[in-house]
Amino acid sequence: MVMPDYDETLLQQLRDLLGDGGLRIEHDDVMPDVILRPQTTEEVSGILRLCSAAAQPLVPLGGKTGLANGHVQTGVEFGLSLERMNAIEEIDTSNRTLTAQAGCILQVAVEAAAEQGLLLPLDFGARGSATLGGIAATNAGGNRVIRYGMARDVILGLEVVLADGTVVTNLNKMLKNNTGYDIKQWFIGAEGTLGVITRLVLRLRPNPRSENTALLAVDSFDALIGLLHWMDERSAGTLSGFEVMWPEFYEYITREGSLHKLPLPHGSAFYVLVETLGSEPETDAERFETVLGEAMEEGLIVDAVLAHSQSERNALWEIRDDVLEFFKLGPIIPFDISVTLDSMQAFVDDIRTGMAAVPESICIVFGHLGDSNLHLILGSKNPEAFDYEGLSTLLYETVQRHRGSVSAEHGIGLSKREQLHRSRSAQELQLMRAMKSLLDPKNILNPNKIFAADTLQRG
Ligand code: ZN
Repeated sequence: MVMPDYDETLLQQLRDLLGDGGLRIEHDDVMPDVILRPQTTEEVSGILRLCSAAAQPLVPLGGKTGLANGHVQTGVEFGLSLERMNAIEEIDTSNRTLTAQAGCILQVAVEAAAEQGLLLPLDFGARGSATLGGIAATNAGGNRVIRYGMARDVILGLEVVLADGTVVTNLNKMLKNNTGYDIKQWFIGAEGTLGVITRLVLRLRPNPRSENTALLAVDSFDALIGLLHWMDERSAGTLSGFEVMWPEFYEYITREGSLHKLPLPHGSAFYVLVETLGSEPETDAERFETVLGEAMEEGLIVDAVLAHSQSERNALWEIRDDVLEFFKLGPIIPFDISVTLDSMQAFVDDIRTGMAAVPESICIVFGHLGDSNLHLILGSKNPEAFDYEGLSTLLYETVQRHRGSVSAEHGIGLSKREQLHRSRSAQELQLMRAMKSLLDPKNILNPNKIFAADTLQRG
């Protein structure tokens, strides 16, 4: 592929603005060719002023770990990478906040907070490359949402640069602040389509002093819901993980010849990884065992194995996290959806019924049950029977029928644009488009993500 003819005047203006190393051009089939690398909020503002005047579209780039293709190129966009804006500006131990630039990598921020004895509770697989700005822009979720909420719940303040270069700074540190519209929420989860996040204030928590983990076998869906409520009610607010694996997941990951030891035998209807994070190592461990023992007497669980060391804890989490193994089964599609707990079993049954028509079908279900979030992996062991459109339609029509969400935690980006109407009303979509037109009248910020460009009114 040849590179398009870029506006040479604009490129020169950007080079003058950003100096050495501030503009890189290299061809990649998926990512933008021109990458702008500002070092300050003022430079981001300057970039947007110039690009707005030239109607040059941009894709804001974080760690590029998103799964909805929110960071890919759809036309002649420039990339706007905040990788050089990665400083942690302050850890405020009295207010328990961390202020950082948007390019800061999650793991770096988590470790810096831990050094001060504080917890930045966001955690997911991409922690080593995801950036705080990208996490905010996509409202990332992950493993501890049941306890600490999504990115939205951790963000206290933001600095954002609007499409015309206006800098809006509200680095709020207060938990309560009802002063008119909560502007930061407009940009959290907007996937870079309404503004570019440049700095953030995140809420820190006390570091947990105890961690208790167990893998449980459960024999019915009703018992599973009963167990979730049981654990939640009896763990004094410490429940931090309730990860459910349907048997196809557990049995394949721990199959003979796999790298995992088998903590519980095959043959149960569900396997649950539960975790609590507390403050009193001895009493927390005791309570955890008692609560599980009583759950067994109640018939909520049929078998259990407790982790007694960090390495045992890691071994249990490795089973849950070994999702890439499923790519060995054949062509598959991973899905990320939500349905309420009261319709979850019927939803999964409907998917299974639909998959019965697929030759040599693959149907793996797991998820963050406490967050009503399921991940499904659908496919076929026979590549000739693999039908991307057919599987997507089955999945999303079933989500719509059960009034679920077509995206629980990965966003809309490019991948789920055509599915958005299944979870949002015409009135909601109209309001979203109106906001986009107000904040980005020339549609230069991450165009074609969430909405196709031709469905928006142009300013
Ligand atoms: Zn997930």
